[in-house]
Amino acid sequence: MVINRRQFLAGLLGAGVALFGVGSQARAAANSKARIVVVGAGVGGSRAALALRRLLPNAEIVVLEKEPNFVWRPGAFEYALGLRTWDTITRSYEVLAAQGIKVKRATVQGIDPARQRVTTTTGPQDYDLLLLASGIRLATETIKGLDQNPQVNACVYDPLQLPSLHKRLAAYQGGTIVLSIPQPPLQCPPAPYEFALLLSEHMRRHKIKGKIVVLDANTSPQPTPLASAFDAALQRHKGVIEYVPWIQVGAVVPAAKRVVSADGEAFSYDLLSLIPRHRAARFITEAGLAQAGDAFVEVDPLSFRSTRFETIYAIGDAARTPYARTASAASACAALCAYAMAKAVSATGPEIEPPTTFDSPCYPYVNGEQALLLRIAYALKRGNKEPRVESHVQTDTEPHAKYVAQRAAWEHDLLQQIFGASTD
Ligand SMILES: Cc1cc2nc3c(=O)[nH]c(=O)nc-3n(C[C@H](O)[C@H](O)[C@H](O)COP(=O)(O)OP(=O)(O)OC[C@H]3O[C@@H](n4cnc5c(N)ncnc54)[C@H](O)[C@@H]3O)c2cc1C
Repeated sequence: MVINRRQFLAGLLGAGVALFGVGSQARAAANSKARIVVVGAGVGGSRAALALRRLLPNAEIVVLEKEPNFVWRPGAFEYALGLRTWDTITRSYEVLAAQGIKVKRATVQGIDPARQRVTTTTGPQDYDLLLLASGIRLATETIKGLDQNPQVNACVYDPLQLPSLHKRLAAYQGGTIVLSIPQPPLQCPPAPYEFALLLSEHMRRHKIKGKIVVLDANTSPQPTPLASAFDAALQRHKGVIEYVPWIQVGAVVPAAKRVVSADGEAFSYDLLSLIPRHRAARFITEAGLAQAGDAFVEVDPLSFRSTRFETIYAIGDAARTPYARTASAASACAALCAYAMAKAVSATGPEIEPPTTFDSPCYPYVNGEQALLLRIAYALKRGNKEPRVESHVQTDTEPHAKYVAQRAAWEHDLLQQIFGASTD
């Protein structure tokens, strides 16, 4: 069986993932017995591991993941608010194992690029190629007092804190909830505003008298193309939501139940949900892959290869690229990166050029029934000249019910692409 270009692309970016490994295009890359280690099995890492499996059937693919299950981050605040169950936002990694991918539960602690080895909580792991898909790290150390009192905070961006946030919100009968939003870089910038708006609705629905104070380090809601739409939506909740721009949370004082801004302004809370600033994982900065205090691994935007170490790649939220930090972009970049890695370890690589366009759609809620649209279409320009990425932003700042339906379909398709992968 010979696979054609359409099938190849479908396998790379679309749902027809089972096609890899059988066609002549894939066979070109099939001989490699390389060991490829993927750190992190979120959207990016899981998708990349599956694409690598199909491009390199003889290679050893090892995934190192610190958590027992995949957590679908875009469903986080709906779960926190009791609008969906934990089961609907988690997936088992068995589907990866069923494809012959070795999934090891381990936390990566260090990288030795010279020896091509990572150190983990369960021992060392050597690699021929390494893919970093470990997302962002919530830098709790940037808020004074938080590392010493982690139990005071329940952050919607931290999968480990989600069950606690869910419980606290279920028990919440009134008082002041303080949410905070850091300066960019921010994973999925609309998410904190969506959370505040749905939380206010939740309070109305349950007749809870309380207040939500949103402390935003930015001067207006993010991202900029949606600022006016979110402003209008926040206005509609005036009386419940107090939106305070330009406030960077500097410290938390649990004994006084207060947070204090970098300028010394104090805000009392009964329930706290702060989002700390985003940084690279410590093992990434220690290996010299990101600048100290920065959040991303420096990579080539088309191959995702580290600009410092040629056997290391990075995708998704862990990488500095021109792409949005979204689940859609992480998934699309994972497939593109798998192609580049397959090419790097096989004599000829897949004989066909990878896709040159992809979309990152986003449907931020403004209430339980309506959402906005932010779609970024990317065009990757390869060729003899300096490779470059062009992007086209499409927004609809008018809330519509159709975007809620499109959001559900988008989620279904993306999760199906990864966790619905067949084993044939
Ligand atoms: C609340 C919220 C709402 C969002 N809403 C949307 C949305 O509507 N649409 C959208 O497109 N995107 C949304 N996003 C963003 C999207 O979820 C991320 O961009 C996407 O998950 C990034 O994928 P990733 O694979 O790069 O990283 P992640 O999904 O963060 O995965 C990283 C993985 O690495 C693991 N890991 C980390 N460190 C280590 C280590 N040291 N050792 C081993 N494993 C490690 C983690 O456990 C995790 O499984 C949202 C994010 C949040 C937080």
